[in-house]
Amino acid sequence: MAEEYKIREQRPYTYADGCGKSKDMECRFRERKMETMDRTFAQGLQCQEINSIGSLLSLEDSVFIIHSPQGCIGCSVTSVDRYRVGQAHRGKKVYRSPRIIVSNLDQNDIIMGGEKKLVQSILAARDRYNPKVIFIFASCASGIIADDIDGIAAKMQKDMEAIIVPIHCEGFKSKICASGFDAAFRAISKYILKDEKNPKEEGLVNLFAPTTVSYKDQLEMERMLSLLGLRANYVPFFSSLEKMRKMTVAQVSTSICKVFADEFMQELKDKYDIPFSHTVMPVGLRNTDSWFLGIAKIVGKEKEALKIIEQEHKRIQPEIDKIKSRLEGKRVFVCGGTGRSFAAALLIEDFGMKLVGLETPVYDGDAQDDIQYLNKIYGDFIVDIANMQPFEQVNIVKRLKPDLFIGVPHWSARLGIPTTHILEGKRPTMGYDGILYLGNKIADQMENPGFNKKLSKYARLPYKESWYKEDPFKYIKKVQS
Ligand code: SF4
Repeated sequence: MAEEYKIREQRPYTYADGCGKSKDMECRFRERKMETMDRTFAQGLQCQEINSIGSLLSLEDSVFIIHSPQGCIGCSVTSVDRYRVGQAHRGKKVYRSPRIIVSNLDQNDIIMGGEKKLVQSILAARDRYNPKVIFIFASCASGIIADDIDGIAAKMQKDMEAIIVPIHCEGFKSKICASGFDAAFRAISKYILKDEKNPKEEGLVNLFAPTTVSYKDQLEMERMLSLLGLRANYVPFFSSLEKMRKMTVAQVSTSICKVFADEFMQELKDKYDIPFSHTVMPVGLRNTDSWFLGIAKIVGKEKEALKIIEQEHKRIQPEIDKIKSRLEGKRVFVCGGTGRSFAAALLIEDFGMKLVGLETPVYDGDAQDDIQYLNKIYGDFIVDIANMQPFEQVNIVKRLKPDLFIGVPHWSARLGIPTTHILEGKRPTMGYDGILYLGNKIADQMENPGFNKKLSKYARLPYKESWYKEDPFKYIKKVQS
């Protein structure tokens, strides 16, 4: 039985702060000499609450109560946007926004308690929308004042048809925002699946996907699974209560992100005897092959998969070569969530580019596997274990002077270097077709850097010149035990 960790920091050998050269890090991690670090100054941390909300926001027939002050819901705009765009891509003529209710805790509630507002929000959710599921998301504020969201949910459940699902995703609990995915899945297991056992459906695959996956990527993953005679139960993005309940009857599970549903797939194995493949995000040739082979091995179709891989390589290699001729030798800095950052670092190998720096929110055993491989192909590069931290990022990027920045581009674009994103959730990035789309996108961006050049002239970063002369990692200090 898998051990349950309430936040990812509790997992053994998992680090949320740190920096260094990749080869040294690989060595320190292997020898268990990596130290727990912390930042004495930090800026712009993505909170775990938003990952919990974002992973479920596109579920049909659901209402999402955010038990928090208004500000906590600000970040959800990107998930709302992806949900609306996702509807357009799926052929909907009229798009709707997710049904979000913020309980709007204020200073009086922080002193007197906010439970009354939560009760009102649950009643409003029922009366306005008559949903099948009501999710309650905790926040720092509701956690600090210890509002009993579980108790209220249990009490109100007696008179409600909708299933009430409280989720403990208080932002302060974890610096690793992927902890929010685990909190959401833990609640789904407890309140929706409830250990009910039903007969298995041959050929059904739980395909776990977060909100950042485009419809084109969904189609590509489904196409690849169909080549193995499998069909996808795509959850929880653009899914429903019925599809969530179906998770327990699948033959096998896989995820399209390394840090999404990994703990939950283990739980499905332990409780419902559903084996799973936990490999990598299928971005780039090597990762797409690994992902595809991972699932094929579990269903006993490795031979078929190898044949398909050979055909797919044959199909796309001439196009990859064309892209390579435009990109070979260029130096790249990569930043993103753990799944995408390591996937992007491998993708650029397909185009003959070179990695000079990588920002990842976490370093753990999975990261170590990737770093080992990356060290072999690129040699030493800078690693920043950071959740956001734009001040640090622009300092490093300015020093390294890469030809291209891949990742959240808002800050580095203002340095005038070409940037591109592989986490936009709207266009193809995954599977064999995704490689070609991303490669051409990167090459186009590099050949047309005018926008970022103008940006660097007119949209200055807020840091003083003196900051760029300082050590970018000066605020990362060893935690005294
Ligand atoms: S839950 Fe906490 S960390 Fe997250 S947005 Fe709200 S106040 Fe910020």
